[in-house]
Amino acid sequence: MSKTKDSNQAVIFQTSHIDKPREGKIYFREQKGLFQRIRRYLSSLLMLVFILLPWIEFNGQQAILFDVGQQQFRFFSLVLFPQDFTLFMWLFIFSAFLLFYITRLYGRIWCGYTCPQTIWMLMFNWIERRVEGTHNQSKALDKAPDSINKWAKKSIKHVLWLNLSLLTALVFMSYFIPAKSLYIDFINMQSSFLVQAWVYFFAVCTYINAGWIKDKMCLHMCPYARFQSAFFVKTTTLMTYDTARGEGRGPRKMNQAKPEGKGDCVDCNLCVQVCPVGIDIRNGLQYECINCGLCADACDGVMAKFNYAKGLISYKAEQKQALGFSFNHVYGSLACLSFVFMLTWFEFRDSSEVNVLRDRQALYRINTQGDVENTYIIKTLNKTQQVKEYQITTDKMLGIEIAGDKVFTVEPGQLQTHVIAVVDKNKNRLGNLDSPFKDIELVITDIATDERFNKAVSFYQSNDAW
Ligand code: SF4
Ligand code: SF4
Repeated sequence: MSKTKDSNQAVIFQTSHIDKPREGKIYFREQKGLFQRIRRYLSSLLMLVFILLPWIEFNGQQAILFDVGQQQFRFFSLVLFPQDFTLFMWLFIFSAFLLFYITRLYGRIWCGYTCPQTIWMLMFNWIERRVEGTHNQSKALDKAPDSINKWAKKSIKHVLWLNLSLLTALVFMSYFIPAKSLYIDFINMQSSFLVQAWVYFFAVCTYINAGWIKDKMCLHMCPYARFQSAFFVKTTTLMTYDTARGEGRGPRKMNQAKPEGKGDCVDCNLCVQVCPVGIDIRNGLQYECINCGLCADACDGVMAKFNYAKGLISYKAEQKQALGFSFNHVYGSLACLSFVFMLTWFEFRDSSEVNVLRDRQALYRINTQGDVENTYIIKTLNKTQQVKEYQITTDKMLGIEIAGDKVFTVEPGQLQTHVIAVVDKNKNRLGNLDSPFKDIELVITDIATDERFNKAVSFYQSNDAW
């Protein structure tokens, strides 16, 4: 990053602050404003979705559930099994390209507005402000000698943080364990040790992450934070301080004409105080910036008080996006393409999975009619939410028949084992044997959809049998 001749470029890329993250706890001030309102509405909506999704029922069951015990993921009428995880691969590819595309256009907007780390960090900060007072009071409290008041406030804050963490962990776990039983069993302390251990594990992770690690997670641990910055180009819209308008900065009195030679920045430092990652946007683009807009909200408030135009700090791109197709849209196109692949895979996905195995106990046996009989195990997985009926047929040309039940049903989402005996009625083949094995084909048909699964298997018929 370097300062260039173009003043607009200097606005974005001039910085004296690269790779010098602020150490220690950041006490950031609460800020109201347009961008904070947008984030609050958006995060409230996302939180509501996160909490309520596991309570939606479909066909008398939880509609969205990663059932680890049954090794299936239920999403309304869709049931996915480990062998269907190609769908998740496409989903990840689609999400990655979409993220790249959005980052090329709007920088780290994901981090600022929708990342759970930011949402939980701001919720924890909201609790801290309610209990300990303003960011300055909170800082003073931390520095104050031990007292009953200090420990009472600290205890209340940590109890509230822990409760929120526990609630978060329970909501998260309700995507893996049916929500109703999870909450009831947990409250009545009847959950298994494993479930309790996972709930407490996620609660502790949330507490440490949002209460203690905070912005350091984005700074030192999150891989997204680093590679998202690598996607910035001149047309990327980023939070920007307008140096041409703001410098020379300096204090002045309200309701008075702007002093000669002064820019619009009144050097109130509010933009720094509200920044959750503790940077000064006036130093230019810094990789710590999560594009959250809080500094713009703070500065707009100050500008309004001084009767200056808003937007000294605002979302701005160094260069306008050219009309027509640009390299940015390659990522958008790849996202669309992977979405189409995902839908195509979904469209052609089998609603059942059938495997046929030979019975390993005996190669063959002679039945009471003197015919050779082979036994097969048919494993049928019904991937839908409806009961399915299947029919087994075989290649009649070879004089092969199925003994016993040719029709069987499989419950929704169940893997069922069905054992059949296949009999060779064609005794005249004696003497024509050039091999003890012959290939036959078993056809398992889904009666409702006529979906067929043709399975080639070996039929054993030793000379010794005759
Ligand atoms: S909030 Fe605005 S006026 Fe105050 S220091 Fe920041 S840029 Fe300058
Ligand atoms: S500089 Fe502004 S946009 Fe960037 S993280 Fe700080 S407050 Fe948010």
